[in-house]
Amino acid sequence: MNFLSLIEAKREGKILAPQQIQEFVGEFTAGKIPDYQMAAMLMAIYFRGLDTAETSALTLAMRDSGDVLKFPKDERPLVDKHSTGGIGDKVSLPLAPLLACLGFRVPMISGRGLGITGGTLDKLDSIPGFQTLLPAKKIVEQVQKIGCVICGQTDRMVPADKKIYALRDASGTVPSIPLITASILSKKLAESLDALVLDVKFGCAAFMQTKAEARKLAKAMVALGNECGVNTRAILTDMNTPLGRAAGNWLEVKESVALLDRRTGVSPVSDFTKPENMETGRMPVLRRDDLRSLVLDCAAHLLVQTRKSKSLAAARKQAGECLNSGQPRKKWNEMLVAQGADLAAFNKKLAQDSTAQVVVELKAETAGYISKCDARLIGEVIRDLGGGRLTKESAINYDVGVDQIAKPGEAVRRNSVLARIHAAGQSQARSACARLKSAFQFSERRPALATRITSVITA
Ligand code: URA
Repeated sequence: MNFLSLIEAKREGKILAPQQIQEFVGEFTAGKIPDYQMAAMLMAIYFRGLDTAETSALTLAMRDSGDVLKFPKDERPLVDKHSTGGIGDKVSLPLAPLLACLGFRVPMISGRGLGITGGTLDKLDSIPGFQTLLPAKKIVEQVQKIGCVICGQTDRMVPADKKIYALRDASGTVPSIPLITASILSKKLAESLDALVLDVKFGCAAFMQTKAEARKLAKAMVALGNECGVNTRAILTDMNTPLGRAAGNWLEVKESVALLDRRTGVSPVSDFTKPENMETGRMPVLRRDDLRSLVLDCAAHLLVQTRKSKSLAAARKQAGECLNSGQPRKKWNEMLVAQGADLAAFNKKLAQDSTAQVVVELKAETAGYISKCDARLIGEVIRDLGGGRLTKESAINYDVGVDQIAKPGEAVRRNSVLARIHAAGQSQARSACARLKSAFQFSERRPALATRITSVITA
């Protein structure tokens, strides 16, 4: 293959044939194309784009660069959810056991966090003994046996993405819709799914800052997923505010277990669980449980996509009843044991209010309604506390983070807790507390609230 002529063709905006794409992905993965030439091709794609057939060829070639999970025929559909990432986004943790209890098989292959966004594998690594590196055979066996697994990509799955992603990172070619689409979907297609729901986030703490950009990415991924034979839908969700009440690896596991234990909706220790309504002085202000709501919505979409339910309303009810039955909490324990966790140590850790050295409270200086809770700033503070990675090689502190986060629309009195900071030392806690103050803004009247899910994209 004359790869130089393909680079030149793409540079001039020409369309590449599927066989040409397959061939260069294969050769690059095998080490037969040097990084400098592949980087030039990626830059040409960045500027010239890929059409649907080219993106599809790239995605399938990347998927086929390594092992594709093979499952025996079974009446339980194979499903998964992928999120483009945000602050406090722990949806995968309660969702996998919930879906298993709803009669699905869930081979959830997840990733690690980088920068301010957390990664599911890092959260799971905070569980004593839990193994996230599993061979393909074990992934399939566990899914067949208990219905769900959450683990990392094996070395033999989608190796082309690993190599191409590293090069994109180093060559300024990450923010390209066809390259992002191929990267995300090649990994999901290697799970041999029947249906996939994509949570594409937009806002100050999201990969895509505007809703228009998120919509463009979502449409590209939905079109390609469906073309590749996986029933694919996307929801566009707001990531200006953190999801749930906690952000930070272990704190998010704790919040997920609280959801499975049906202990959420209000923060258990916050001092403003039932504030007076500041306008009428009568009714308590309800705290909206956005985490539970998003988990149920993802499950409901998959129930409809796989025709297990006729309408979203009926599906949501079914998912809610399943969550309330307590079965997903038992399934969570089953999954933990199957993946080597030490349940006694896990339960002991869960019983602790904090596993960090220092906990400090950030308190409101005046009464009012929260009008803004800046997810990006909260993410940056957690990363700087040691909870996130600056480079792929950085070690992280699983115990640090922020919890009891007050959310927009909620009323606070003077001295109400706006958030608690879990830190490795006093000075880090003090500095985080000072920075976090500016994450919150207040208004005298209750602000109109943005809905978390703003659009559903089905085609
Ligand atoms: N996540 C991925 O897996 N790949 C991308 O290109 C972007 C986000």
